[in-house]
Amino acid sequence: MFDRATYNAQYHAEHKATINARSLRYYHKYKKKLLAGRKDYMKKYYKKHCDKWSERHRPGTAANDERNAQRRARYAVDPQMQKTARAQSRKWYWSNPDKAKARMLRQYNITLERFNELLKNQGNACAICGRNSTDKRVFPHVDNCRETNAVRGLLCTNCNFLIGHAGDDPAILRKAASYLSKRRPHG
Ligand SMILES: [Zn+2]
Repeated sequence: MFDRATYNAQYHAEHKATINARSLRYYHKYKKKLLAGRKDYMKKYYKKHCDKWSERHRPGTAANDERNAQRRARYAVDPQMQKTARAQSRKWYWSNPDKAKARMLRQYNITLERFNELLKNQGNACAICGRNSTDKRVFPHVDNCRETNAVRGLLCTNCNFLIGHAGDDPAILRKAASYLSKRRPHG
């Protein structure tokens, strides 16, 4: 007797490569639509199950900690995983410049919006010397008060060092200024 299940399994085993290639072609042809559909589905799913979801994905839950510990252990010994993770994070960094910057700024206790506002208010220049630089690697630095960690302003590299070396002490900086004025050889 003809057994459809056996026939299907056999057919699938014999034509595995063709079937996979076909579904891959299908996936790439309709990728946008498929992904949009999945996004919609996940959105609805999340709305319906958001309590369960947050429980499952909250950091610090036992299942999550376990999963993360396993991933860390695998990461430590798996060069392929390290390579993939690095590539992913690089890709994320370059395709999300604002988010990357916001994340970097978080350690300086400032949001990206506030940072941009400050920079605009300072005329895109250092708050001390007024040097205007477009080199984003060295400028501007977020200057925080050492005691309160509050943001005082944005400085260029030199001025950031200047006040840092003076121990953030206005008296020392005033003395330094007066020293320079008095001993200026020609004026
Ligand atoms: Zn400066």
